[in-house]
Amino acid sequence: MQPFDYVRPRSLAEVAQLLEEADAQTCILAGGTHLLPEIELGRIRPRLLIDIKAAPELNELRYTNSEGLTLGAAIPISQLLTSPEVRRHYPLLQEVARIWGSVQVRNRATVGGNICQASPAADMVTALLCFDAECRIFGPEGERWTPLERFLLGPGRTALKPNEVLVSVRLPSLGGKSVGAYRFVRKGKGGHVTLAGVAVRAVAISHGVASWRMALAGLASSPKRVSEAEHILEAGELNEHAIHRAAQKAADAAEPIDDARASARYRAALAPVLAERSIRAVARQMWGYGA
Ligand SMILES: Cc1cc2nc3c(=O)[nH]c(=O)nc-3n(C[C@H](O)[C@H](O)[C@H](O)COP(=O)(O)OP(=O)(O)OC[C@H]3O[C@@H](n4cnc5c(N)ncnc54)[C@H](O)[C@@H]3O)c2cc1C
Repeated sequence: MQPFDYVRPRSLAEVAQLLEEADAQTCILAGGTHLLPEIELGRIRPRLLIDIKAAPELNELRYTNSEGLTLGAAIPISQLLTSPEVRRHYPLLQEVARIWGSVQVRNRATVGGNICQASPAADMVTALLCFDAECRIFGPEGERWTPLERFLLGPGRTALKPNEVLVSVRLPSLGGKSVGAYRFVRKGKGGHVTLAGVAVRAVAISHGVASWRMALAGLASSPKRVSEAEHILEAGELNEHAIHRAAQKAADAAEPIDDARASARYRAALAPVLAERSIRAVARQMWGYGA
């Protein structure tokens, strides 16, 4: 490993100032669960690491009925598990946090790191897509917002410009009972990379009718929404026909690839099965459907 400098700014303003002088060998360090192994393996050779964890603006976890939930980019995944607001309004986030690697990894890995690593199989990103999350970005030209869907540009690629930092994500308030489920497959016991996953969340409107969201992990170049499935589930009262059609839309939306972990064919076969299981889990929790 080649030597590098390390700085730990105490505010977003200090982070921004350091980023203004940054070059291609400057890296933002959050939990380091992805970055540090990459450095150790020599795949990334930084000159300077900017550790963002001490900046209060990046550590906010706040909920209000009017603004919804703000999650600072440097919040560790484990913090989602202890928040009563997350449990009450966004339980899908807790379901995903619970299945994360191990306690140690959950305590280090951050929400922002999961987004900025831009893995096609990022579990938390997939859940956040189900809440129409928006990203707050800060850089030399000031602040800007972009929907999470547009932030993700493909494996390892995001809409962040050089010298910009992801500050937080905001999830709008939902205005009704919210239920979520995440069904996924990983390779082997203890594997931490999701081969395929489907997140579903519903917000109750009236009996049997809800607003729905569905997103896929590991089934395209970035986690992606399946709006066609959402439209089917929102079209009327839930029934078997709608569940099967919506699950099929997840299969249609999947663009899986072959890699060392699994074949595209296997991933494609998982998509409708996991989608159906997630929809059923949500409908069961929400209305006792199929119980
Ligand atoms: C054992 C193990 C288990 C894992 N389990 C899971 C799992 O269950 N699900 C899952 O999805 N992933 C998992 N991961 C992958 C990884 O932990 C997550 O993607 C994690 O959220 C990354 O966050 P981090 O804070 O550690 O990021 P870091 O490693 O610190 O950073 C990742 C990348 O994002 C950039 N970055 C980080 N924060 C910002 C920011 N605010 N603004 C701009 N750029 C930023 C960094 O420069 C770097 O390029 C696992 C990894 C390991 C090693």
